[in-house]
Amino acid sequence: MAPRSIVSKLGVSVTLGAVFTIALLLVVVPIQQRKLLRENLISELESIASALSISVQFAIEQENLGLLAQVNSFMSGNSDVTIAGIYLIEGGASSLIAEFPPNVGLDNLSKDQLADYLLVSLPFSTSTTSGRVLVGSARANLEESVRRVQIPLYVAFAGLAIVFGLIFVSLSRGVVTPMMASARIASRLGSGDLDMDIDIRTDNREVQVLSSSLVELRDNLSAAKAENESLLKNLEDTVEARTGELNTALAELKESFQRLGAVLSSTNSLIWSFDRIRDEFHFTGATSDLSLFGLDSQANVALKNILQRVHPESRDILIERFTAFLIEGSELEQHVQLETTPGQYRWFLLTGVPIPIGTDRSELALGSLVDMDERFRQEQRIWEMAHSDELTGTGNRTQFTQAFHEAVRREKSGTLMLVDINDFKLINDTKGHLTGDKVLIAFAEELKLRIPRAYTIARLGGDEFGIVISPALDDESLASVFKELQHGIAKRSDLGLEVPVSISLGAASFPENGMDLETVMQAADTAMYQAKREKLGGSAFSLFHPGMDAERLTRSALRSRIETALHNNELELWYQPIWSSTQQGFLSVEALLRWPGDATPIQTVIDTAEESELILRVGEFVIESAFQMLAALPSYANDLLVSVNISPVQFHYQDLVELIEKYSSLNRVDPSRLLIEITERTFIENSELAQSILRRLKAIGVQVAIDDFGTGYSSLNSLHQLDIDWIKIDRAFVTDINTDTQSYQIVNALVKMSEALGIGLIAEGVETQAEREVLERLDVTRQQGYLFARPMPVNKLLAFMVEKSHSPTVAV
Ligand code: C2E
Ligand code: CA
Ligand code: CA
Repeated sequence: MAPRSIVSKLGVSVTLGAVFTIALLLVVVPIQQRKLLRENLISELESIASALSISVQFAIEQENLGLLAQVNSFMSGNSDVTIAGIYLIEGGASSLIAEFPPNVGLDNLSKDQLADYLLVSLPFSTSTTSGRVLVGSARANLEESVRRVQIPLYVAFAGLAIVFGLIFVSLSRGVVTPMMASARIASRLGSGDLDMDIDIRTDNREVQVLSSSLVELRDNLSAAKAENESLLKNLEDTVEARTGELNTALAELKESFQRLGAVLSSTNSLIWSFDRIRDEFHFTGATSDLSLFGLDSQANVALKNILQRVHPESRDILIERFTAFLIEGSELEQHVQLETTPGQYRWFLLTGVPIPIGTDRSELALGSLVDMDERFRQEQRIWEMAHSDELTGTGNRTQFTQAFHEAVRREKSGTLMLVDINDFKLINDTKGHLTGDKVLIAFAEELKLRIPRAYTIARLGGDEFGIVISPALDDESLASVFKELQHGIAKRSDLGLEVPVSISLGAASFPENGMDLETVMQAADTAMYQAKREKLGGSAFSLFHPGMDAERLTRSALRSRIETALHNNELELWYQPIWSSTQQGFLSVEALLRWPGDATPIQTVIDTAEESELILRVGEFVIESAFQMLAALPSYANDLLVSVNISPVQFHYQDLVELIEKYSSLNRVDPSRLLIEITERTFIENSELAQSILRRLKAIGVQVAIDDFGTGYSSLNSLHQLDIDWIKIDRAFVTDINTDTQSYQIVNALVKMSEALGIGLIAEGVETQAEREVLERLDVTRQQGYLFARPMPVNKLLAFMVEKSHSPTVAV
């Protein structure tokens, strides 16, 4: 139903009110009036009649009807009621006895005519008669009187109508118009038209309140609108910016997807999503990849089906990681072996990214599955390459390190063995690198043959090999491993070497000698070093014990003490005379280093100095001192020769010739008064260089002796090439030469050969007369040893020379 305006409603109401009033006025009022009047009239008539009945009774009794007429005329002067007539009704018969006004002819009146009268019959009785008196009034009279009554009513009703009209006008002007205006304003406000003046003229308080409320509403709306507009502007800006960002992101995403697609189609990868509610994987990828992964094109696989296909070895860890990934949202990156075809497993990399939706853990997880099989195979190959030594096929340092850590982790006990090939550098230098390689390969073969497979063999560099043995072996087992190795490598005759290869082996154990690689290695190295030192030349084996460390420390302390001694001039040269039986005199002396006041054996001092360039400074001191001694000799000893010991290091790293020339000229002593003693090792190491140095020494007149002959590798033949002057027969062959036939025969052979080669022989360490005699018989005419003299300081030497210049005497 369409809403109707308040005015129309008001109009309808007022109209209905007016119509109703008029209807009332026109219909109801007259009826009601008449009815009222009649009732009034009737009661009036009745009261009149009852009052009349007495009069009527009286008049009738008196037969004085004139009286009645008088009464009647009196009444009609005061009321509308007139007595129409008096009927006597006696015994059912009625007779009009009087008529007022007379001549109406009541008896003759028709029924219709009678209707013009309003009549009331009233009973009466007299002493003689009874009857009814008819009281009435002509209807016209009555109506006249009614009309008289109606006029004020009409007036009243008209007044009412006017009041209605006034109400309407007042309402419509005072309330409805402002209300309508308000409604219009409100409707305009509602439609957003806020730019208007609100001016509702009224003196109505409520409407005023309404008006001011409307003003307030408009102002509020304006403010809200302004605020909204600025908000809207902001929102628009934000939306615009976001849209831009979104578009960029979208473009990037598209690109990523394209790239991902490209990657996917070229790398045997699948993207998976995991529906946590259904415990189901969905795989996406190229069809060829899907089949590679053993999946059909459907590619919806329940979790339990996937797990069934995971290799039993990696299943537990996968379940653990995947659960953590789903529940805790931890990173998922796990290599798994999946059965792609029955009985065949391939390696895959499973990665996963949980996607948080809202604050909840994701319902959906995403990830990739990448075929790593080929890569793993390649990595395996690379691993092998990275962990093995190309030349020998053993492991390398990397593998050695890993094996050590693995052993520490797993067994917590083990042994590290370090082995190196003695004089490998010499072999390399003299026989060439090919031979050197052959020796390394041969030794590696021996290692592989003799060392149980469970242990790791690695070449650590150069000729050094390391073996990780775990769990630890007892000392006896280690010793037997060493023996087998030693014999095995010594027996190799295919290497083109005159002298059998020998090795030095050091072993240290963990946890006894340390738990970290560096410490245990250091221990094994110390042991190996010890083995080398203890048995120069041959194979040797040594187990680390803490004392060795102490010794190592002592050696470094010793080195610094030697340095101090050198600096403070605490070192001296002592001299041991060498007897010549052909000349019957001491023609030469050997200069030997001494450190008075220090108990360290001089051999140890020399060995320690040889571990660093310290030996060069010691060597220079020796040459300098020797020349000073020669310069200081009295003239009668002008032909005495001094023989000095030269270490291999010194020979190669110092310009020996230059040094000798320097001190010879400084002291004005001819270099030909000097003799140098070098060991076989010196010239084996670099024969080319050695030969040229020797030639230069010869050129300035320096003689050369081979010291400790018979303990090294050299053959007499090689000595011949080197143009050597003297050979010093090692003390080992001299001692017991009179009792030991083997020593005797060796010396005998040496004498023969040296004669043939034109090299002189000097016997060392002659302690007894018997030795001296045997040597003499063998024609070793030059001899040195305690039998003749012990090494002595320079001042004693002079005295000795004077005293013994012409006859050899047994020294004290
Ligand atoms: P070497 O060159 O073989 O020196 C001979 C060693 O034998 C000396 O020991 C000497 O005292 C000792 N000796 C001499 N006659 C006898 C004997 O009848 N019986 C015994 N048992 N020993 C005897 P020293 O002085 O202790 O020297 C040991 C080694 O130290 C030397 O052996 C030499 O290789 C080295 N050495 C000594 N002084 C020097 C030096 O100034 N420079 C270099 N580079 N090495 C030196
Ligand atoms: Ca010597
Ligand atoms: Ca010697």
